[in-house]
Formats: sequence, C-alpha cells, structure tokens
Amino acid sequence: MTLFDKFGRQITDLRISITDRCNFRCVYCRSADPENYREHDEILSWPELDRLAKIFLSLGIRKIRITGGEPLVRAGVEDYIARVHELGVEDLSMTTNGHLLAERCERLVEAGLRRINISLDSLDSHKFERITRTKSFDTVMQGIDAAQKSKLGPAKINAVLVRGLNEDEVEAFAEFARQRGVIMRFIEFMPLDADRTWTRRQVVPAMEVYERIHARWPLVQIQHERSETARKYRFADGAPGEIGLIAPVTQPFCGHCSRIRLTADGKLRTCLFSKDDHDLRGLLREGATDDEIVSYIQSIVNEKEEGHRINAPDFLPPTRTMVFIGG
Ligand code: SAM
Ligand code: SF4
Repeated sequence: MTLFDKFGRQITDLRISITDRCNFRCVYCRSADPENYREHDEILSWPELDRLAKIFLSLGIRKIRITGGEPLVRAGVEDYIARVHELGVEDLSMTTNGHLLAERCERLVEAGLRRINISLDSLDSHKFERITRTKSFDTVMQGIDAAQKSKLGPAKINAVLVRGLNEDEVEAFAEFARQRGVIMRFIEFMPLDADRTWTRRQVVPAMEVYERIHARWPLVQIQHERSETARKYRFADGAPGEIGLIAPVTQPFCGHCSRIRLTADGKLRTCLFSKDDHDLRGLLREGATDDEIVSYIQSIVNEKEEGHRINAPDFLPPTRTMVFIGG
C-alpha cells in the first residue's frame, strides 16, 4: 500500500513528535510564559505510537524523524527508537536541541539511530543564552562532539536565522562546518513562533546566506533528491563539512513535499501550516481496527494542501505553533 495525495505526490516521510515538552524556550519557537503543556494522558502512549509506526510503514513511509518539543526529555525514547528500527524503516533520525545528547548518544546508537539533527542558533554562548533562554551552550557543544565521534556523525546542525539576532554569524557557522566536518543547515524563520512576533523583515533569505558564504569559500552544489527540503553544497576547496539551505519562505518547496506529521497528542497534520489537524488518537482510543485507521489516513492525505500560503496576502499562521506541531 502507498500514500498519495490528490496532486500525485507520494508521502514517504513522517515526523513523529513524541512530546510537546521542552527544556529550552527558544525565542523563535516557544513563549517565555508559563507552561501550557498537554496533560500526560492526552499524549500518545508508547503502545499507541508503536501501533501507528507499524501502520504508517505498511503505507510506504520510508523516513521517520523523531522530534518534539524536545524528544530526549521523554523517558523511553531509546526503546521506542529500537522498536521502530526493528520494524525495518529505511531512514530513522531525530531532531534535538542537544542538551541531553552527550549522555544519551551511546544508547541512541545502540537503539539503531544513525542520523541526527542538532539545533544550534549561535556560536556565542551569551547570544545562545538569549535565544534559548538557557545556560546550556556547553552541554550542547558536548552533545555535538559526542555525536561527531559516534555513528551519528556527521551531524546536521540546524540554525534558524533571525535578522537582527544571529544573521551576523553566517560566516562563523560556515567556518564551524569546515572545522568540525558537520553539515551546517540554515533555516529561514517561519511564522510558527508562540509569541507571534514573526515579520517578513526578520527572515534572512537563503540566497543571501549562499552569497555570503560563496564569496568567502566558493560552494559547489551537491545533487539532492527532489523531495529534500535543503539545497546542499560542499566547499570547492575540498574542506570538510557541508552547507544546507532551507528556504520555506523565499523558495517554497511544496510542489515536491512528501511529508506528513503526527503531533504528540495524536493529530495528523498534512502541512506545517495546516489550518486543521486530524484526530488519530480519538480513533485509536475508540477501538478502530487497523483497516479503519488506514482508510482514515488515506482520506486525510488525499486532501493534503497544495502548498503553504505564507506568501499569500491573506495568510494567517496556524493556531498550533512549532513546539506543538513538531519540527
Ligand atoms: N527541540 C528540538 C530542536 O530544537 O531541535 C526538536 C523540535 S524543534 C521544534 C525542530 C526544529 O524546528 C528546530 O531545528 C528548530 O530550530 C526549528 N524551529 C522552531 N521554530 C521555528 C520557526 N519559527 N521557524 C523555523 N524553524 C523553527
Ligand atoms: Fe524547544 Fe526545539 Fe522549540 Fe527550542 S526549537 S524551544 S529546543 S522545541
């Protein structure tokens, strides 16, 4: 069985958010205000997540990324990864803020994880504190080191660039990629922040990032799969490391989108910017059969929106923000 939408796009990529909780409060993601987490029983249990992983794999999902919130704050994540790995998924990865990574790296590798994305929005520890509202710079750097030394390397390092905040660090990040041999990915700031402060002016276009790095260290494009979100480059001088540019705002890649998302509270989302989400948890808890769940997923995927409408004049951000959707 396979999953296609009405525009003929095959859905092969699933992001599973296993928690809406997080130990950071990045300014472009969460609010500084008190927690508004879901109750524990609203979050999918491990057996429910096991069942859904099996069903999605039977529908032709080939890539699964575990995310959150911060996935490493949920106890049992390594065991879940081991079970999903056992199911035979082709490409299994995780996105983390890296704070708990150094101490968990070995167990994640043992569980079968082979790829990791680590968020790092500044190489300056003071600025890092301002962005994440934590003092975790050193532990994140230790997490990156641990990943690089393990089978998770080369790590992908994600930086969300926000004009006036960290756009001055583009070259420093590129140098970091060259020195550490990591894949440095620059992500355009999207209107998914809890504080609703996003403005177009704060977006640093991927093209600008490309031009700045290319002027200093010429870049050579690397072939990428059609459905991949990042444009990838290596350094022409043969230095280690790689650059990835992700431009959802200035160069939307919706035409090739192969992705759906499962939120921590069991909602299926067909786009980051979907206005609605679809309640798989309700079905699971009402005792639906696997066939019923499959039909429901197929009907929802069929209606996947053609693209996000960030650039449309009447665009409104979704009511759910990144930390709840799962990036
Ligand atoms: N907590 C983990 C982390 O930070 O890597 C995983 C979840 S986080 C929501 C996933 C990714 O979304 C991170 O790379 C983060 O930088 C990115 N992100 C969060 N808010 C964003 C926004 N408003 N625009 C673009 N990317 C965003
Ligand atoms: Fe937490 Fe990740 Fe959002 Fe930062 S980006 S607040 S680490 S979920």
